[in-house]
Amino acid sequence: MADISKADCKRLADARRRKGMTQSAVAAAVGCRQSAICMLEGGQSGKLAADKVAKIAELLEVKLETVSENSVAEFKDTRRIGFCPNAECHSNVPYVSGEVLYFWPVEQQGDRCVYCGEVLEHNCPNCGASLVDGACCPACGEPKVVNTLPPETDFVRWAAERRVELAEWRQLTKK
Ligand SMILES: [Zn+2]
Ligand SMILES: [Zn+2]
Repeated sequence: MADISKADCKRLADARRRKGMTQSAVAAAVGCRQSAICMLEGGQSGKLAADKVAKIAELLEVKLETVSENSVAEFKDTRRIGFCPNAECHSNVPYVSGEVLYFWPVEQQGDRCVYCGEVLEHNCPNCGASLVDGACCPACGEPKVVNTLPPETDFVRWAAERRVELAEWRQLTKK
């Protein structure tokens, strides 16, 4: 099990975004699941073996505990429709069903999330199937957006509050 600091987790996430790589692309390159990358970037490194984390750091050219200043050429994804894998992004509408928190992603075009700047995922991060509307992939049944909120979060309350926030925000941005 890897045990790296939250600051290092954030460095890895920042480095991946600088490179314009999706979480899925990193997962495929090192041989793990996108959800593990998502958890790692959220500060929870326990799902990954230390050698995987080392591989990720190498791939992203991050020296753990020291910031790498190297920025690298953009990695372009030409497929168009995508979703933001960031659970706390305002493009993902949370709802609770059977005590499980799900996120309904807004479909977006292009490479980056217009809400938070994250690199969009363009396929199911778990099985690679094409995207269809909804919270879960119809091919593998896995949620598209991994819940990275701290486990002690009151999901029902958080989802309700977030939905109110989203409604107010849409009101404000409506022309
Ligand atoms: Zn986003
Ligand atoms: Zn799938």
